[in-house]
Amino acid sequence: MTIPKRLNGFYASPVAENTAKKWIIAVIGQDILLAHQADITNNPFINCSVAQQLDVFCKRKITLGQWLSYDCQVWDLMPEAASTDGFSTVVLRDLLTIAGEEVFSLACRAVQLLNWHDTHRFCGRCGKPNQATHKEHAMACSSCNINNYPRISPCIIVVVTHGQRCLLARNANWASGRFSAIAGFLEAGESAEQALHREVFEEVGVEIDHIRYIGSQSWPYPGQLMLGFIAQATSEEIKVDGIEIAEANWFHYKQLPETIAPPGIIAGALIKRFVDEATVTYG
Ligand SMILES: [Zn+2]
Repeated sequence: MTIPKRLNGFYASPVAENTAKKWIIAVIGQDILLAHQADITNNPFINCSVAQQLDVFCKRKITLGQWLSYDCQVWDLMPEAASTDGFSTVVLRDLLTIAGEEVFSLACRAVQLLNWHDTHRFCGRCGKPNQATHKEHAMACSSCNINNYPRISPCIIVVVTHGQRCLLARNANWASGRFSAIAGFLEAGESAEQALHREVFEEVGVEIDHIRYIGSQSWPYPGQLMLGFIAQATSEEIKVDGIEIAEANWFHYKQLPETIAPPGIIAGALIKRFVDEATVTYG
């Protein structure tokens, strides 16, 4: 199969092409098991011949699609697999820094699909067991003729700007000095734009305008799709909600807080975009 270039080598599909080789994403809970001999920064997943020694620990296998021309499966492993010689685990989030966004998004898909199978074993209407379908990733109830698809929860995340400054907030659970963009889940029936206006107003009491979509990122805790925006503030006074947000401030583009997300994470990418644009405009 020729995969469109913009898909970065990955084609999402539940259908195996039964290629001679396979790439295995070995998952233990929320962690990823890596082989020491793998090329961690380019393709940290496990060749199927190397993965054979893990088969004894494997609880189930799900085809994710094709990655770099070969079938790609997720293997759900028992915790004992972590002590196999030649392998060690890495926290899923750390794959983003180790191997980059393409590998991270594939590992996210692996973890999300396992989680979705675990939480959709029974039909929500009649309570009978669901069965995984083969033509698409769906859990089906044959009695009700209902298909359940992987649950993806859209969220907005926004850097609000005011001239040379941007508004960043500290979550009540974060250490002092750590700030990020405003984010929140979409409510049922809401557009992304409505969610942006509501979340920014609820969390920091600011109104916004000139909303620009910048990009998105899948975030598997447990299945968010982060939709990233930059918007301009039409009011300046900050009133934090005091519950979810402990503090929020306007930060000059040359004086950002000491701890912000790296550019590989969408919050960091949005902040970097603001700084780059401000640098072009203001020097
Ligand atoms: Zn049913």
